[in-house]
Amino acid sequence: MFATRVSERVYLLDTYALGVPGTVGAYLVKGPRPALVDCGYASSYESVLRGLAETGVMPSDVRYVIPTHVHLDHAGAAGKLLGEMPNAEVLAQEKAVPHLVDPTRLVESSTRVFGKEMMELYGVPKPIPASRIMAVGEEASLDLGDGLTATMMHAPGHAPHQISVSLDGTRALLTADSVGIVYPGLKALIPTTPPPSFHPSELVATIAKLKQTSPVELLVPHFGTRRDVDWVFDRTAELVESWVGRVKEMWKQKMTLDEAAEEMERTVMADAGVEGLPIYARISVRTSTMGIMHYLEKNA
Ligand SMILES: [Zn+2]
Repeated sequence: MFATRVSERVYLLDTYALGVPGTVGAYLVKGPRPALVDCGYASSYESVLRGLAETGVMPSDVRYVIPTHVHLDHAGAAGKLLGEMPNAEVLAQEKAVPHLVDPTRLVESSTRVFGKEMMELYGVPKPIPASRIMAVGEEASLDLGDGLTATMMHAPGHAPHQISVSLDGTRALLTADSVGIVYPGLKALIPTTPPPSFHPSELVATIAKLKQTSPVELLVPHFGTRRDVDWVFDRTAELVESWVGRVKEMWKQKMTLDEAAEEMERTVMADAGVEGLPIYARISVRTSTMGIMHYLEKNA
């Protein structure tokens, strides 16, 4: 199953990232003007199309494609999907637009972070013609029809080019990576603090801003819906601060990334009450540790 209905008009699409379920999600909002929020990796685009088919929406029905930010697990498949969606227009934060039009620099920086082998598995994003993209600044709203409006809000911190999307009326919030990673099988939250542009105080400010919109449900890309809204927000903010503190100590002691990541893995395992972590969770921990170290080096 690729699509799960999470509310009257919203479906969670499992993109089966690298073949693994329950790690990278996208959301489809049905209605007169269907919107796809997030797209998964370029290599997952067929899973997205299968999920879409399960919801009964044709690719040619999709009117809006909204990659919440340019990271490969969110926008990677956007270009390929648009090839199948002739009536869709892309909405993205204005800082994201140049990377969607020309992903060269994004691919270079992602290759530095994840390595060549992983990049091949993730797939290379296809450029999107500028004429199909509408830039979003601080805030913009979109009429999805039948009384549902989506408000796109700039949500920096995880990345400067990120937006979160509120579905007004239902008070569901598509968080993007403004909240931590909550894998269904792991009872711990992992902060989302990747390189190259994680910024701790901006992320904490974004969490406070989103919390003020009082959503009743969070639609989280990694992974699924959460109704313990305050806990997810508060725990994310708390862990961003404590991870930055801990990694800073290790960084000052000149520990390597591998050593620091192992230490943070132990924290997550203790938190979750487990003896080992699945590989996708280990990659998340390592990427977040790397992002904090990168931030510390940039600001040293
Ligand atoms: Zn992500």
